[in-house]
Amino acid sequence: MPPEPALEVRDLRKSFGRIEAVAGVSFRVAAGEIVGFLGPNGAGKTTTLRILAGIFPPTSGEVRVAGHDVMREPLACRRAVGYFPEYAPFYPDLSVRAYLDFVARLKRIPRRARADVIGRALAACALETVAHRRVGTLSKGYRQRVGLAQALLGDPPILILDEPTIGLDPGQVVEMRELLGGLRGARTVFFSSHVIAEVAALCERVIVVAHGRLVAEGSPAELRERLHRRRRAVLRVDGPPAEVAAALGAVPGVLAVEPTAGGFVLEGEDHAELARAAGDVVRRHGWTVLELRPEAVGLEEIFLGLVGDGERGS
Ligand code: ATP
Repeated sequence: MPPEPALEVRDLRKSFGRIEAVAGVSFRVAAGEIVGFLGPNGAGKTTTLRILAGIFPPTSGEVRVAGHDVMREPLACRRAVGYFPEYAPFYPDLSVRAYLDFVARLKRIPRRARADVIGRALAACALETVAHRRVGTLSKGYRQRVGLAQALLGDPPILILDEPTIGLDPGQVVEMRELLGGLRGARTVFFSSHVIAEVAALCERVIVVAHGRLVAEGSPAELRERLHRRRRAVLRVDGPPAEVAAALGAVPGVLAVEPTAGGFVLEGEDHAELARAAGDVVRRHGWTVLELRPEAVGLEEIFLGLVGDGERGS
């Protein structure tokens, strides 16, 4: 039997009145995985994470956390999860240590274990030097680390983090990424973002949602490959540019020919077919193919492409 997934969601739906925020989403996250949950604003990420964290129930569908059903065993689910909400309810006048002590009490961590548990969370998030500072006086980067520290209290096996890098400057993003990367292997981490580069740097797998529906799932490399197959190829040809462009434009399956410095970028539905047809035409004219390769695609473009698919409902 394969091990129980850390998170399992089947046909999850959540409506707020007439708004269907999550419209039938299914996925699994294996124990120990770091998985990014990607989507534009309003895609349903926060709603899904809140259901996983036990904040509110789904309208329908099955959700299991560490093998427990969120509806039937809500306490067992909540104990397994450290949740970092998008807007963490900080108390600006409390010191970092006092705030963590407050959260530890809410989590019912016994008094005698508390100092030790808080010490470990402070260390894991490199917060020891600011433990005495009031939360309200800290930079956004440090406040986000406090948010992560409170999620870590009590050593939950699963962390659910809602946009942990939102509002951070590039240096702080790198620090947060390193902290999250340091959790690799020890815990399951499921975190949302709408900045693809951050997700790609950390995750072996990405789940993409748009309009409450899952539009893609795979490693960042797989998503890149998926787009390559039907997108753009770079072609350099030893031949008269205007004639080459005209010949390429007439190739079935080529949707656009874009001249670039030293060559062309071809656009088509299927990358493999595009490359084969273009290569044949060039050789038939007696010209030489100097270079033919898929165009490197940024994850940002992949994301736009995938979300576009979702919008068209395919
Ligand atoms: P963002 O990155 O902007 O937080 P998101 O992907 O997290 O986006 P959600 O916050 O889950 O998206 O919202 C999905 C949809 O559900 C949106 O249309 C939102 O307005 C709506 N929604 C979310 N929470 C509620 C609520 N409590 N009452 C009514 N509508 C809600």
